[in-house]
Amino acid sequence: MIPLSVPHLAGNEWRYVKDCLDTGWISSAGAYVGRFEEALAAFTGAPHAVACMNGTAALHIALHLSGVGPGDYVLVPNLTFVASLNAVKYTFAEPILVDVDPHTWQMDMVLLREFLETETHVGENGCRLKADGRRIGAIMPVHVLGNMAEIRQCMELAAQFGIPVVEDATEALGSYYEGRHAGTFGTFGCFSFNGNKIISTGGGGMIITSDPALAQKAKHLTTTAKVSQEEYFHDEVGYNYRLVNVLAAIGLAQMEQLPQFIERKKQIDMYYRRELEGVGDISFQRIPTEVDPNCWLFTLRTEKMRGLLAFLNEQEIQSRPFWIPMNRLPMYAACRYVSAADQANAVYESSLSIPCSSGLTDAQLLEVTSAIKAFFNRP
Ligand SMILES: *Cc1c(COP(=O)(O)O)cnc(C)c1O
Repeated sequence: MIPLSVPHLAGNEWRYVKDCLDTGWISSAGAYVGRFEEALAAFTGAPHAVACMNGTAALHIALHLSGVGPGDYVLVPNLTFVASLNAVKYTFAEPILVDVDPHTWQMDMVLLREFLETETHVGENGCRLKADGRRIGAIMPVHVLGNMAEIRQCMELAAQFGIPVVEDATEALGSYYEGRHAGTFGTFGCFSFNGNKIISTGGGGMIITSDPALAQKAKHLTTTAKVSQEEYFHDEVGYNYRLVNVLAAIGLAQMEQLPQFIERKKQIDMYYRRELEGVGDISFQRIPTEVDPNCWLFTLRTEKMRGLLAFLNEQEIQSRPFWIPMNRLPMYAACRYVSAADQANAVYESSLSIPCSSGLTDAQLLEVTSAIKAFFNRP
């Protein structure tokens, strides 16, 4: 079977993990956590990085430290992985869903502007929904598939309405907007190193920020809010959200290979766009000119999505439909949905992700495109 997107462990992973095992530093202390944080900070250009046990935990802490709490609203795109919204719920805030642009599949900033202008007012106590007086606690754009949301427009709106921004950049390590790395625009940016992401530690996450005090608070909160090294004195309700040393060791080895992974992902993206252009009714995600994407997960659109999905899986070419929009999940169905034409659902119903692991061979790529062409050329 040709898998959809799997980890590529071709560097120093064994050596660094063996070092952890040989020295006994497998858990929460040890040098690799700091080294992994430094490597990610250096790569993204963020002044501070704090490792977490996964991307969801990173988003939870980032929202919490942005001041989001019970009764607040957080603006999120309707087309995202469920973890974005779950993190909002963990702070006891409510998501407000915003529809996506039908071409880029990112949060629609025109709809967001209209909503903020017509349905909120800004007073001394922040930006509030006119209807019930509740606060808009944050905007959480998601950089879907390693393409990027219109982050400039988003930051302008956030400044105008006085709302913090937490970037869900979990899929966008190695993506840039006007030369600036994803996750460095908002108060916080969050990354994930889950099994299918562009680099993986099995499970893991990272928070980046330019604010040293917030970085220090994030480290504190993710490590049980323990104040002293010796005494068990904790000064607030903290979380055990740390990344363990043995996983950080894998992360450091993965960071060393990230530039090669991105290069290969871009080759795969170019190959698919060239080979599949004009095949059946296939169309692709639009990349804005300001964006240099990491090409994380190749996804195409066709009205024959269901048929193609079954056909490819039959040929042992692992393919997946896109996320079911959040407003169609039971726990989020009652959320306010800012939308004109429910583009999120149209994108969902016609989108398919196809194999694009950085370890794929050219022969495997040819096998994928040949199968897709065969599907569309069937009588
Ligand atoms: C992967 C992902 C997350 C969560 O990351 P985990 O490490 O799996 O917790 C959050 N949001 C989006 C959009 C993701 O793709």
